[in-house]
Amino acid sequence: MTPTSPQARELRISGVVQGVGFRPFVYRLAHRHHLTGWVLNDECGVAIHVEGSSQALDAFGEDLQREPPVAARIDSIDVQAIDPIGLDAFLVRESAPRNSPTARISPDIAVCDDCVRELFDPCDRRYQYPYINCSNCGPRLSVVLALPYDRSHTTMFSWTLCHACLREYQDPGNRRFHAQPMACAECGPGYTLHEGTSVVADSAAAILRAAALLKHGSVIGIKGLGGYHLACDAINQTAVSALRTRKFRKDKPFAVMVRDVEAARRIAAVSREAEMLMMTAARPIVLVPRTAELPHVAPDTSDLGLMLPYSPLHYLLFANGAPEAIVMTSGNRSSEPIAYEDADAFERLHGMADAILVGERAIARRVEDSVARASSGGSRILRRARGYATDAVAELRSATPILALGADLKNAITLVVGGQAIVSQHIGDLEHYDATRAFEEAVRDLINMYALEYPDVIVAHDLHPEYKSTVFARALPAAVHRGVQHHRAHVASVLAERGDTTTRCLGIAFDGTGYGDDGTIWGGEFFVGSVATGLHRVAHLRTASLPGGDAAARYPLQAAAGFLSEFSDAAKMGRHPFSFGRRYDHARDLIAADIRVFPTTSIGRLFDAVAALVGFDREVTFEGQAAVWLEQIAAPSETRLSAPFEFRDAELDFRPALRAVVDWRMDGREPSDIARGFHRGLAVGVADAARQICAARGIHTVVLSGGVFQNELLLASVRDQLSPGLRVWTNEKVPPNDGGISLGQAALVARGTNGVRRCAIV
Ligand code: ZN
Ligand code: ZN
Ligand code: FE
Repeated sequence: MTPTSPQARELRISGVVQGVGFRPFVYRLAHRHHLTGWVLNDECGVAIHVEGSSQALDAFGEDLQREPPVAARIDSIDVQAIDPIGLDAFLVRESAPRNSPTARISPDIAVCDDCVRELFDPCDRRYQYPYINCSNCGPRLSVVLALPYDRSHTTMFSWTLCHACLREYQDPGNRRFHAQPMACAECGPGYTLHEGTSVVADSAAAILRAAALLKHGSVIGIKGLGGYHLACDAINQTAVSALRTRKFRKDKPFAVMVRDVEAARRIAAVSREAEMLMMTAARPIVLVPRTAELPHVAPDTSDLGLMLPYSPLHYLLFANGAPEAIVMTSGNRSSEPIAYEDADAFERLHGMADAILVGERAIARRVEDSVARASSGGSRILRRARGYATDAVAELRSATPILALGADLKNAITLVVGGQAIVSQHIGDLEHYDATRAFEEAVRDLINMYALEYPDVIVAHDLHPEYKSTVFARALPAAVHRGVQHHRAHVASVLAERGDTTTRCLGIAFDGTGYGDDGTIWGGEFFVGSVATGLHRVAHLRTASLPGGDAAARYPLQAAAGFLSEFSDAAKMGRHPFSFGRRYDHARDLIAADIRVFPTTSIGRLFDAVAALVGFDREVTFEGQAAVWLEQIAAPSETRLSAPFEFRDAELDFRPALRAVVDWRMDGREPSDIARGFHRGLAVGVADAARQICAARGIHTVVLSGGVFQNELLLASVRDQLSPGLRVWTNEKVPPNDGGISLGQAALVARGTNGVRRCAIV
């Protein structure tokens, strides 16, 4: 064979390669290198057949890896030399028939710059068309009904492309070549504005009127990519307070959408890192320090959650005169799942929204906005949904598919199929009936999408016998059910993200609540081991009494009564400066009588107790509220105070630290300094414990996870205390809170352990 005689290669590419303009990209590359053959989407990703000179084939292969489409992510390319067939053209072929799909669904992608330019170009066919998109941008997860990703498998299937659109769709040189959700005003869906039971405007007039209503202080329901939002002018106090009342949402902060970065800078201190994160194609809500007074938007916190417009409709609203900062909160009543089906949205938003802007394109599944934070150590995801889900976050080898169902708070589920761990979008807190239904829907959705049958699936779940997710998991007709302890799953989630199953490490899991091996409430745990060998509990926070058990999470005063019960002078907390009142006294009575008192090692509850001592004596209305409050008041303090923790006999003793906090308060120290002193002391204590454990066992890596490590102040101080000397690993792709639990469960079960010891999996 001479170097110029035609050769052929077959390439199979896996990763995020469907719905991101990959086939048009391959088509253009093949033409550039004068190759013949074809490209198609199959269940595993993209398959390519190319024929040409060996030089051209090499160059094609290099370009393929060097310049893939922006939203694509190649995980592996498998190349085989085969016999040439003698083809005379390069084609994009129809997808291969379904078998058992493992291809991944691209997350939704914010509208790209090219599309925005066309959106505002009066000469363009799609001038002001709210559903403009192309193969580099637009909806994906929120429109996919089945795999492989083709128009007939999306919620756009019922709109037939007009001639002009079809020409673009079929032209390999066009940006919209095979852009599945593409459309135009001529052939695609539109928007209408509803007030009461009547449609008052459509198309451009609907958007113009919605923008005007926002400007005049109304609350508007807006159908977006993955669900309905409730929106109002963020600067208009009356509007924001009306929204809070109607939504039954007391204190939990609202997210704000700003017209552009300049508008963001007028109300918050947006760092360079935060700006970059806000501008990524995922367009998450980014937490930044607030600089303007925005009453009712984010009480109790100096952080503000800001996001930039991400759908063409958002751009149009701002261009049509909507206020430059609008509250954009999920369309639901407090803690219900976001509404995404039209009929349901009308019913639920009735009475909350003055008008509803409804788009005709159906939403395939709920996808809420993601929440992230940019910090010196990189960006951290706190709620993983639109823009990130359901991108696979890790490779986990398992011959049998694994379905891991997570925990009941901040639920997300993980499916391991074809060696990939696919983590679902954030589902929510399963304490409400609607959220449980949404959870069951999400499980069904994922199982159907990958054409799995239960007897062939291993199901992993939390150990808590009363979790809805546990009860649901145990009722599934799966091959094997495997319970995984909550805090081991937290630690394993970090290791799974890094693809590390063997490094022996110290894993520290701090959170509010998790069911322990012994049935007590854990939450301040130290483990030694790896994903492959299991994680052995080696130390924990000193056990305290918690009157009321898990229910105590609502009342920091109850936690305070529990943690202080070992102090002989604890009864005096009824007087100045504490004035704890009846709830505290009642909790003390429970402890004295030993009624409904539970042992706990929860750091989250310790934070609650300290928050109560420093002045937070209300009920909390969302998870972690008191701890967030404590972090916020600590942040500005420059005190050198440090509340001492002692580490002895595998126990981190909080008593000296609590004693210091009580004394400082009695001495009239500033709450801000006390809060800061508690943070510093805890960081020093944790680091001291970590160093002792690591030194004794020859360990060099410390893993930090659990909801408490969303606390930036604590995380940064623990990091500082541990380095140099110890390597610190934290979550990057999934949240450190319970949103990451399912990934950890899957990782432990994939390695044939339940986190405690190896166990046979049939
Ligand atoms: Zn685009
Ligand atoms: Zn069209
Ligand atoms: Fe947790």
